[in-house]
Amino acid sequence: MLRNHLSEEVLDLAAFAREVAERKIGPLVEKVERDQTFSPAIRDVLAEAGFLGLIVPERFGGSDTNLFDELVVVEEIARVYPSAATYLTAHWVSSKLLVRAADGGQSDDWLLDALQKIAAGEWLGALGATEPEAGSDLASVKTRSELDGDTWVTNGAKRFITNGGFSDFIALVVRTGEAGSKGISILFAESDAPGVSAIRYEHKMGLHGSATAELAIDNLRVPADHILGEVNDGWRMVMDGLDAGRVVVAAMALGQASSALDHSVRYSRDRRQFGQSISEFQGVQFLLADMEIAVATSRSIVYDAASAIVEGRPNGSHLASIAKTHATDSAMQVTSDAVQVHGGYGYVTDFPVEMLMRDAKIHQIYEGTNQLQRSLIARHLLRDGPR
Ligand SMILES: Cc1cc2nc3c(=O)[nH]c(=O)nc-3n(C[C@H](O)[C@H](O)[C@H](O)COP(=O)(O)OP(=O)(O)OC[C@H]3O[C@@H](n4cnc5c(N)ncnc54)[C@H](O)[C@@H]3O)c2cc1C
Repeated sequence: MLRNHLSEEVLDLAAFAREVAERKIGPLVEKVERDQTFSPAIRDVLAEAGFLGLIVPERFGGSDTNLFDELVVVEEIARVYPSAATYLTAHWVSSKLLVRAADGGQSDDWLLDALQKIAAGEWLGALGATEPEAGSDLASVKTRSELDGDTWVTNGAKRFITNGGFSDFIALVVRTGEAGSKGISILFAESDAPGVSAIRYEHKMGLHGSATAELAIDNLRVPADHILGEVNDGWRMVMDGLDAGRVVVAAMALGQASSALDHSVRYSRDRRQFGQSISEFQGVQFLLADMEIAVATSRSIVYDAASAIVEGRPNGSHLASIAKTHATDSAMQVTSDAVQVHGGYGYVTDFPVEMLMRDAKIHQIYEGTNQLQRSLIARHLLRDGPR
């Protein structure tokens, strides 16, 4: 589905998100990039715009939205500031675990109360899945929760946690049972609970305005009913959100690529060398054409994959992997080409293409690396045979 086939409501939301990104986030970027840490001001903008609460359905006090709303919002925010888009993606992926638990029939007061706070934009979430020894192989997590009377006591460590140390709650992927994927649960903890602390922040190639924390979990105690869903059913809870998570990352990459292309078209028209605009050189035109091809094909596959997921089509997972791989690989190429079009000015911080290129690399790594996506795509092909 191309973006111009989206409903009026979704297009209105996209236009609103563009305005929020350009008018409210844009002016903050220079300072936040310099400060290289989480920005409470950006969090406030996202909350006031209603983007933090976007994924809570009406039945739990939120609004009637779907995956397309998420895609257009992250695409527009990432066009201006990819770091800000990660506040949303980490928050959404963790919050959706609460939604899934409530949809599965869990109706504890604390859960419904938490969903209300998320819907109102009062709470920001983080997902604590990755560990020093458990990255792509997430089923090998070692952080362990033991039941002590009516309390889960948790010990372990988490690495690379977006929003870590700045979130109001964290959904932790923990081991409550046997080795492997069947012994995993999702534990909910408020971030001020004693026993969980951000002990270090990563110094990163990009995403300088996004906090990436190492968490120490030392005798964290939370009530026994704070498991999301069933005990030892956490793997399914995480897997159920993967397809949507992948297209959301793909949409972020798409936003960055389309922004880099727009900057490049403008710059190539303005910049003059050898007595003419550089846009008149075929070498530059071919770069721009290849960038446009990559952006247009990414846009098609991202929105097509989203349609398949929303409609529950059986090829939703397959298309999500293709969308994630194509859009993120394309964003890396397009943002690099954008720097090329800008020449030396692209390599310095005067123009945003330098940031867009640094911030593109991570999309090939998280939410399932692109090598893992290719394995999934090949497995699907070989299982289902030739078309
Ligand atoms: C900025 C940033 C933000 C992040 N945010 C979060 C977050 O909010 N929450 C969270 O839980 N995690 C987060 N992560 C972690 C991220 O999801 C992991 O880095 C990612 O899953 C890869 O794990 P790894 O880094 O351990 O790499 P590894 O798994 O060690 O992979 C190293 C290399 O080996 C390849 N490889 C591994 N297994 C296979 C295989 N089976 N087949 C082929 N190739 C393979 C990979 O593709 C990669 O090229 C974040 C990471 C970063 C850098």
